[in-house]
Amino acid sequence: MRLVLVGPPGAGKGTQAQILSTTLGVPHISTGDLFRAHIGGQTELGREVKQYLDAGQLVPDEVTVNMVRERLDEQDTAAGFLLDGFPRTTAQADVLTGLLDAKGQRLDAVIEFDVPEDVVVERLLARGREDDKEDVIRHRQQVYRSETAPLLAYYRNILVTIDAVGSVQEISERALKALRASE
Ligand code: AMP
Repeated sequence: MRLVLVGPPGAGKGTQAQILSTTLGVPHISTGDLFRAHIGGQTELGREVKQYLDAGQLVPDEVTVNMVRERLDEQDTAAGFLLDGFPRTTAQADVLTGLLDAKGQRLDAVIEFDVPEDVVVERLLARGREDDKEDVIRHRQQVYRSETAPLLAYYRNILVTIDAVGSVQEISERALKALRASE
């Protein structure tokens, strides 16, 4: 199964992605995690992207897209994958469509985690990751609204919207149920 998760920063995508990835038996590919691993490992790519993550800005497409292309070329994605944090713009979505077309593949569903902005800002302030400072959080929400939310219309034919207010277990159950219903 080939899935994309979409939702504002703090919607619980990462947590849900881990659960869904285990349940569905497909790898969880988080561009944010990949970038943070590069930063932690002090690679050249890590040094290049750190400023963007610190500011809550999108990393330029050429860097992001190359990283995703390489990741999707790895063998473990043959039976499917769960993308978390990519695509984040309709331009990235076009690239993804092209990458999959070249392999004769397409996405099965896009899951939207729907949660009000004040709830996510509260959650992020409590999480305390390095880019979870209030001004950076607000900027990331703004980037989501202007750059990423247009994906919901882009993917309307395969979009599955989940109410993402609730416990971790409630939300993952909703997601799995909605996915089964969408098949
Ligand atoms: P996340 O872990 O998904 O919240 O992403 C953390 C940060 O990584 C974002 O604020 C961006 O700086 C960067 N990032 C993650 N995914 C992408 C992407 N698809 N395109 C550009 N930047 C990204």
